[in-house]
Amino acid sequence: MKPTIGLEIHVHLKTLTKMFCDSLNDTSEHHPNVNICPICTGQPGTLPTINKKAVEKVLQVGMALGGKLAKNTKFDRKNYFYPDLPKGYQISQYDEPLVSGGSLLGVRLRRIHLEEDAGGLSHVGDFSLVDYNRAGVPLMELVTEPDITSAKQASDFARELQLILRYLEVSDADMEMGHMRIEANISWDMGTKVEVKNINSFSVVEAAINYELERQKVLLKKKKKIIQETRGWDDVKKETFSQRSKEEAHDYRYFPDPDLPAFEVSSLKSLSSLKQEIPELPEQKRKRFAEEFKLKPEQAEVLVQNRTGSNFFEEAVSELNELEGEKETGIQLLFNYYTTDLWGLIAKEEITIDQIKITPGNFADLIFLLLKKEISSRTAKDILLKMFQAGGDPKEILKSENLGQVSDEDSLRKAAEKIISENPNAVADYKKGKGNAMQFLIGKTMGQLGGRANPQVLREIFEKLLK
Ligand code: MN
Repeated sequence: MKPTIGLEIHVHLKTLTKMFCDSLNDTSEHHPNVNICPICTGQPGTLPTINKKAVEKVLQVGMALGGKLAKNTKFDRKNYFYPDLPKGYQISQYDEPLVSGGSLLGVRLRRIHLEEDAGGLSHVGDFSLVDYNRAGVPLMELVTEPDITSAKQASDFARELQLILRYLEVSDADMEMGHMRIEANISWDMGTKVEVKNINSFSVVEAAINYELERQKVLLKKKKKIIQETRGWDDVKKETFSQRSKEEAHDYRYFPDPDLPAFEVSSLKSLSSLKQEIPELPEQKRKRFAEEFKLKPEQAEVLVQNRTGSNFFEEAVSELNELEGEKETGIQLLFNYYTTDLWGLIAKEEITIDQIKITPGNFADLIFLLLKKEISSRTAKDILLKMFQAGGDPKEILKSENLGQVSDEDSLRKAAEKIISENPNAVADYKKGKGNAMQFLIGKTMGQLGGRANPQVLREIFEKLLK
């Protein structure tokens, strides 16, 4: 027996206005019913107009995933009744989706279409409140073939899709914010499938699929029938529960929306520029970074997770060119300072990488100083903080802030003599041949000098003084 899993993923598209009217598409708006108009609240006599930007974004996703763009397309009405759906139908696409086919990570895509979101309901005491801010927000729906055979493969697929959507800047695709919602159709050997909804994180994708596969396996072993139904995920009990038996497609009485014109996709003038605007996608970038920069796959992965950041890193690397023979060491050092120190500062300030004051060139200069041993790692961190706060050239900061390494023998000798007189036991140990006693003395002196002593010069001084 083999798991057969398909995913249906809904994604909020990042457009200025809604799908069929000019109300703002702002899903972060917390005041209810602010971004609404007669069209998205379904008032009689109003007419929808197609948001071209939303159509373009779906087509661009289709191109990036190798799908076939429709020649002709149209919108259809999907009829059902629910208080969050003011018109009594959702405008969606039925038999002529914008995109058919394509694949991602070896999983075939069935279709990608465009539709509108419904509003939101909240229940307060005896009342149900409805907020139509989200009603009519453009939604992309992507449906895969049931090619997925494990929970892990499903979450990998969803993560990669999220990353691609962010690279294309078509959506923030934030699951916690509801920008990306996942439903999984789960069965064994293409048998009766169960649809699991309310999946709101990648870890729930895995947990819900694993739970459901196990539940079905137990039933199948007992020769019991699996009911075709929609199940929800209970995040407290960590289990799926029955919500309702699945509607068949014809229950929705789909028919072409008479208020919206069918149109020819190839007549869109923007098609070729949409194609050109597709950036290098994460999968290619992973491979290229690993090869060109001699990075381990897991290092390349860290970089690729943030498109702007990966561009920053790449620009900084290109500034390291003078290093020649030491370039590999330089890139590793750059990687460490980028992932640990720079991102540490970014996370602490809660900003994004495109807001930082450091240029890739100046960041590379800092690594260069470090590599040429002109500064210690302690000093590098001090300079980095200054660069982070106000920008600037690390060489200038080094000069003006007097942060350079103390290599001057006189002051180093004075400091060493002081440490020797204060630590007679360590000195005795050293004379008895204990190698780590020297390290101890150097460490003490370093501490006194705020980590700015040149360790090589310091070691030579100690060796002379203790001879
Ligand atoms: Mn849908």
